[in-house]
Amino acid sequence: MHDLVLTGARLGDGRQNAWLSIANGRIAAIGDDSPPAARTQISLEGDLVLPALTDAHLHLDKTLFGTPWLPHAAGPTRMSRIETDATVLPSLPRSTCDRAGALIRRCVAHGTGHLRTHVDITTAFGLKALEGVLEAKAAHAGACTVQTVAFPQAGVMRSRGAVELLDAAMRAGADLVGGIDPCEVDRDPKGQLDAVFAIASRHGVGIDIHLHEPGEMGLFSLQEICARTRAIGLQGRVAVSHGFCLGGVAESKQKSAAEMMAEAGVTLVTHGAGGSTLPPIALLRGEGVSVICGNDDIRDTWSPYGTADMLERAAVIGWRADFRTDETLEALFEMISIDGARALGIAEHGVAPGLPANLFTLPAEGVPEAIGQHPQRRMVIFGGRIVARDGIYLG
Ligand SMILES: [Zn+2]
Repeated sequence: MHDLVLTGARLGDGRQNAWLSIANGRIAAIGDDSPPAARTQISLEGDLVLPALTDAHLHLDKTLFGTPWLPHAAGPTRMSRIETDATVLPSLPRSTCDRAGALIRRCVAHGTGHLRTHVDITTAFGLKALEGVLEAKAAHAGACTVQTVAFPQAGVMRSRGAVELLDAAMRAGADLVGGIDPCEVDRDPKGQLDAVFAIASRHGVGIDIHLHEPGEMGLFSLQEICARTRAIGLQGRVAVSHGFCLGGVAESKQKSAAEMMAEAGVTLVTHGAGGSTLPPIALLRGEGVSVICGNDDIRDTWSPYGTADMLERAAVIGWRADFRTDETLEALFEMISIDGARALGIAEHGVAPGLPANLFTLPAEGVPEAIGQHPQRRMVIFGGRIVARDGIYLG
């Protein structure tokens, strides 16, 4: 006897009126004849079934989810936002754990099963933000996976004690070590990158570096990151978030940067930032670079925007990249599902017998419509359990 059978399903490969059975947290079988007996049977009435989404870059600790609306307080520069965080975040009426939990539940209700969050590790916060996020992660372990990146938001070399704090964050349970604009923020690219890669080596973890630096400056940092990745054998475990520089240089340089990233196994994480140059997604993928996506700021101290929906995020990225054909929308879906999961080290991902039952359903005729229109998710299943219905988190 299976635990759950979903009938009347539309599958990503175009099959209609199929059924999926779930047992012991995994997809037991998929068919289009008569469904097997199960404790619970639910008709999807033609809804599309897709694998769990991956949000590979967000900031659970900075979110204002769960609090009354707070007008954006920071000035127009990144440094002003960093400084504003130090005063605004500790004064909020709800704890990091509460706010992070509220945002995790929104992510899950939109069908996201795997998250990678950056968490501020600064002298202002110490390890407090990380402790709050780890608490929220544990409370939602049955609904999604959460990876944490120890993120030196205020810099590494310019901030006394930052290296020791990052080390302490790894001991406290962070999964990866982060970095930020080694030239622009620290004005010491060698110092920051040597320190970050040394921490990764020491703790046997991967790296995810925020790289907002434009043009040639960013390209220089990217080259240094790729060289160090190859030198210490971290291929496949290093990501560069944003990489705006890739969108701001000549195509010949984009191409050689893409070849360098593919060879070093360095992933690019994009969220299609407004007001910044967009990396050439199709060119990068064409050269074999893993390109994945995240929401980044979701209604937080940095931005009033964002709903935590990765299908909507894919639509924003596709809109900016001028992706219009079904083929390019299918590529976007790979980036926010299977490619994202692979980059996060999630080995088993997809809608197929034997895989974990991490999936969601929605009223759409196929992946292109799911991205283009991103209708509300009707049902979200994680580990074989229904964790959200009609946009409401069930726990
Ligand atoms: Zn970020």
